[in-house]
Amino acid sequence: MTDFGSKYARTVLRTPEEFRNFLAMRPAPSWGKKLSIHHTWSPTETQWRGLTSLDGVFRYYRDVRGWPPGVGPHFFGGPDYPSKRWVLFVATDPVYKGIGVAGRNSDSWHLEHTWNGDKHPFSAEVLEFSAWVVRELSLWAGLPIQWCDPHVSSSTGLYFHRDRRDAGKSCPGTKVTHEAVMAAYKEDDMTPDEVRAIVREEIEQVWDTAAGDAAEAHLMQRGILTKKHPGGKAASIRYMNITLSRVLKLLGK
Ligand SMILES: [Zn+2]
Repeated sequence: MTDFGSKYARTVLRTPEEFRNFLAMRPAPSWGKKLSIHHTWSPTETQWRGLTSLDGVFRYYRDVRGWPPGVGPHFFGGPDYPSKRWVLFVATDPVYKGIGVAGRNSDSWHLEHTWNGDKHPFSAEVLEFSAWVVRELSLWAGLPIQWCDPHVSSSTGLYFHRDRRDAGKSCPGTKVTHEAVMAAYKEDDMTPDEVRAIVREEIEQVWDTAAGDAAEAHLMQRGILTKKHPGGKAASIRYMNITLSRVLKLLGK
């Protein structure tokens, strides 16, 4: 057991739904304007042992750094045991102000990744994890998913720890770029209309005689089809021909 006090949530949340329910039981504090993105670099992903490691980190904050008990970064991402799937460890309860960036603790939540970002960019799994955490937090706190200026109080959104001029750190790691992280965070942001537009474009390709004929000619030229399909207007066959022709082009054939 720990004696880190009531600000230490010490909770493992394995899905976006679990995080959503956890947040729903709490009022979003009015001080929250920003989310700061970090990496721990130590413990690394392979050293991480879940809540045991989290307790160790918070013991270090309290005993070595002299921070108040249970007060540090709010969120830690790391592998679960024994599944190794990345899950969310809530450390300092997000209704309370935490500690993570000098001079920016009064309006920021902090999200740590147990990952050495100076050596490797975030993996697909880390990005996916980070994205659902950010999306749920954004819904709860009304935090816009956009980069903000960590030097300006009225600016709201996300920032890397290193974006602070006085950070003196590469956090969340020199191999981790704003572009890759924001692309992951925005991935599910397509509206139904945008999805429909893409699907419609594909279907119109199928009904576009020229595209279908060109695909068929391409496949005949490569010896995949031996003759023109007599019922060549059938959508499923044309769709297959167009797809196959695209695959061949990708392979340089
Ligand atoms: Zn940091």
